Amino acid sequence: MKLSNSYIGLPEEFFDSVYPTPVKSPSLIAFNDDLAATLKITLSDEEKIDFFSGNKVPSDSTPIALNYSGHQFGNFVHQLGDGRAVLLGEIRDKKNTVDVQLKGSGPTMYSRQGDGRSALGPVLREYLLSEAMYHLDIPTTRALAAISTGEYVARDEFEPGGILTRVAQSHLRVGTFEYFASRQQYEELKILADFAIQRHYPDIREFDNHYLELLKRVAQNQSLLVSKWMSVGFIHGVMNTDNFTISGETLDYGPCAFLDEYHPGKVFSSIDLQGRYAFGNQPSIAAWNLASLAGCLIAFIDKDADKANEMATEVLDNFSIETNQRILNLMCKKIGLDGESKSNQDILKSLLKIMMDNESDYTITFRNLSNQLVGESKKFLDEFKKDNHIEGWLNRWKESVKKENGDMKQLSLELNKINPLYIPRNHQIQKAIDLAYENDFTKFLEMIEVFKNPFNEDQRYAEYENSPLEDQKILKTFCGT
Ligand code: AMP
Ligand code: MG
Repeated sequence: MKLSNSYIGLPEEFFDSVYPTPVKSPSLIAFNDDLAATLKITLSDEEKIDFFSGNKVPSDSTPIALNYSGHQFGNFVHQLGDGRAVLLGEIRDKKNTVDVQLKGSGPTMYSRQGDGRSALGPVLREYLLSEAMYHLDIPTTRALAAISTGEYVARDEFEPGGILTRVAQSHLRVGTFEYFASRQQYEELKILADFAIQRHYPDIREFDNHYLELLKRVAQNQSLLVSKWMSVGFIHGVMNTDNFTISGETLDYGPCAFLDEYHPGKVFSSIDLQGRYAFGNQPSIAAWNLASLAGCLIAFIDKDADKANEMATEVLDNFSIETNQRILNLMCKKIGLDGESKSNQDILKSLLKIMMDNESDYTITFRNLSNQLVGESKKFLDEFKKDNHIEGWLNRWKESVKKENGDMKQLSLELNKINPLYIPRNHQIQKAIDLAYENDFTKFLEMIEVFKNPFNEDQRYAEYENSPLEDQKILKTFCGT
């Protein structure tokens, strides 16, 4: 593991030097060989345990915790920072630089009242979800290793402790910008913006207005991200600005979840009492977070405040329009139609309305629609138990699909590459965690394999196709912090 650290070249308020706190008896639960290979990491089993538990630090590592603020549920929190994470360093190749971070590695100066630790459950959750997202082709941080610490952490009950090694394009967030902007530290803010440009969008240096372009790029990547979330039914659950990346990757898998039955107002998070981060609100929350970033950059966009305001507002307006269209395109694609056409959009919207009324499972419905093109799919029709509007809808849809596509068999195959069969459902994840707490990791390890191929049917994994039975349903998710 060849580690460097460009963050330590930044002014001292950006981070704090801190070593991970050693743990009692660590064991390696999972290691991501594929990711390790792409990062050219070769370590012995002993080194993996030592380094990813934080019991030893690689000789070329300068471990630090990063400083940031953030809006949590719309309220500004002046001081956050890595309270339970340590950046071991960066791995660079010619094209790319990534952060390697331990999460759950002990207290830092930003821990506030927290213990700096993580329970094993949330570690396994993040491992499964982030890797599943990666294989669904959704920008995300990744999981390199999961460690069980052999210690207990106090949450509602005592739980076994865990540490996740997370790999990210960087850990820069809107909250990092808010830290300096809220303190009116414009010099540091500019250094941060330049660092972000160099790290993520180096070609911006060719543009006249670097900071307006930075805002545009973050908006563009976040638009791609949120649209993809919507198309697979992913609810992030805590889209606070400290969890909203500059790279456009999904960050922090806390109380997140995939939809079972479709409802735009769906909320799982136990702390989201007003539904701020409900499924259907995600595009507007992304716009809200981008407005926060715009506020941080505004002074650099133009000296004339009115002009700067106008330019930033245009970016935000475009974000909303483009994201809306992007979602329509992706969603129409799921049903084999072109999203630019108004009548196709209507067909999509009526399907969603019927799905909502029938409490149809999001993933099963879209996946099995393709079978309706080549016969009758019981699995699809079973999702519409309450009313029969679906028959009329199917006729209307088939008519449009035939106009736009030649070969129905071919289209059916194509749709199966767009609509996943396997998504990490909460009830399955919870089962894997419950078993892990009894020292049985087989289900967790099996799930890692299942979600490597979310589109290809595999008889061995049939149980992962199903939605939860009534008594298996998980109604609430928790941060687990
Ligand atoms: P998160 O919910 O993981 O996005 O965390 C929000 C903030 O709380 C971040 O500043 C975290 O570092 C901090 N935090 C979460 N859990 C802990 C913990 N167990 N100990 C210390 N800080 C924590
Ligand atoms: Mg966070």
